[in-house]
Amino acid sequence: MMKEAYSFSFDVYESEDELNATDAALVKQARAISEQAYAPYSKFFVGAAALMDNGSIITGTNQENASYPVTLCAERALMAAAASVYPNIGIKTMAISYHNHNKNTNSNTPISPCGMCRQSLVEFETRHHVMRLILTGLSGKIYVIPEAGQLLPLSFKGENLRM
Ligand SMILES: [Zn+2]
Repeated sequence: MMKEAYSFSFDVYESEDELNATDAALVKQARAISEQAYAPYSKFFVGAAALMDNGSIITGTNQENASYPVTLCAERALMAAAASVYPNIGIKTMAISYHNHNKNTNSNTPISPCGMCRQSLVEFETRHHVMRLILTGLSGKIYVIPEAGQLLPLSFKGENLRM
């Protein structure tokens, strides 16, 4: 028997003021687009903005449904849009932000993709190349993850279907 360990490191910024101009612009767009989310049930508005390899910016928001499990997260809405418009283009960086419209919340802590989105992000990376993630809220600290797949170690991939 032997033990294996998994770890990764990521950058933590105090605010968008410490980011380079490209990343700061992406954060600004993710925060802005979150207000266009369709989240009448949770009132948890999520926005994502991605810089693609061709320089295009694609955005996504969460799309809730009265049948709750039908809900689509902002990250997957974004990737579906990106892959539909530019099927052969990868995403360099995706910024994800949110505005919790519920009372007594301040949306100032970075959010992280849910498990289902992590699986979808890994597939998108496998299809193209690694993707940086910028995790933020309306204000406060910002996390920059070098590769989305680092959030899902030992992930299930297409190659597993051929084993
Ligand atoms: Zn999700």
